Amino acid sequence: MKIVTLLTSISVITLALLSGFFPLQSTEPAHSEIKKIKTQSVERTKEEWRKILSPEQYRILREAGTERPNGKVYLEFQQHGPGTYYCAGCDAELFSSKEKFDSHCGWPSFYDPSNAKNVKTSVDYHLGYARTEVLCSICDGHLGHVFTGEGFDTPTDKRYCINGTVLKFIPLAAVDAKKKKTRKGEK
Ligand SMILES: [Zn+2]
Repeated sequence: MKIVTLLTSISVITLALLSGFFPLQSTEPAHSEIKKIKTQSVERTKEEWRKILSPEQYRILREAGTERPNGKVYLEFQQHGPGTYYCAGCDAELFSSKEKFDSHCGWPSFYDPSNAKNVKTSVDYHLGYARTEVLCSICDGHLGHVFTGEGFDTPTDKRYCINGTVLKFIPLAAVDAKKKKTRKGEK
């Protein structure tokens, strides 16, 4: 009698597990979708990156390269008014003109990211000593380095030394105009 009861409960549990398990499995999104939902990260193959980036952007973002200091990009950067800087690899918001300051180092400098969750750091030894590398946390692209304690008169005493080549600048005026247009369209 006891064995019958035991067997019945085992089959009930098995049935419950099966009926609960199979629908779950069939409605589960594909692996790539899960990744997208969980991390919102952008992953591409080398070939895909080469298609969407210029050779110089590829060298910096994907191979941790560094642009020439005081180049054309830096001169343009100095001329920028208010606006936001996005990642050239994935369009994530990284920095804004509010945190921009002139460090005279020849590369775009910010004292903080504008959207901290999109910027991460890691230590690299490419020059034989430890430096803190700055990366886009969405596409893992190399952006530059961050240095601390240099005595700049900024709220953080940090210098995010960023390659301008891998930043997409959108002036505030353009963003405002787009918002106005959208509002008009809604009416
Ligand atoms: Zn990115």
